[in-house]
Amino acid sequence: MSQQFDPNCLFCKIVSGAIPSKKVFEDEEFLAFHDINPWAPIHFLIIPKLHLPSMAQLEAEHAQMMGRLMVLAPKLALEQGASPYPQGGFRVVCNTGSHGGQEVHHLHMHVLAGPKPWVRG
Ligand code: AMP
Ligand code: ZN
Repeated sequence: MSQQFDPNCLFCKIVSGAIPSKKVFEDEEFLAFHDINPWAPIHFLIIPKLHLPSMAQLEAEHAQMMGRLMVLAPKLALEQGASPYPQGGFRVVCNTGSHGGQEVHHLHMHVLAGPKPWVRG
């Protein structure tokens, strides 16, 4: 069973409103907000409100939620100003664990878009 909320987690505090964010989208299941240190002209994060430390903790029960997250990403990318596929498009990044470069241990998907060059990514 995954823990619903971790009081020590930065992104759980963003979900609860204890830490402010520049919101892109919110529903019962997900929150999307601008990355505080963007690598690209458009850079936001989509997180499930459910506290899961990373993709490494995903189980079969999370498959539909992750599917909805993947479907949300292109919709929000366009809304945030990404040019349409194929000339435009976007990149999704899901850093997992130390070797994956993960710094915040609440599952999140980076969505990066906009004209190159980018800072990184
Ligand atoms: P990762 O390295 O994949 O764990 O990425 C964590 C991301 O969270 C980094 O790109 C940070 O810039 C971003 N970040 C950290 N704190 C905040 C915050 N308070 N609001 C928005 N983004 C944040
Ligand atoms: Zn959390």
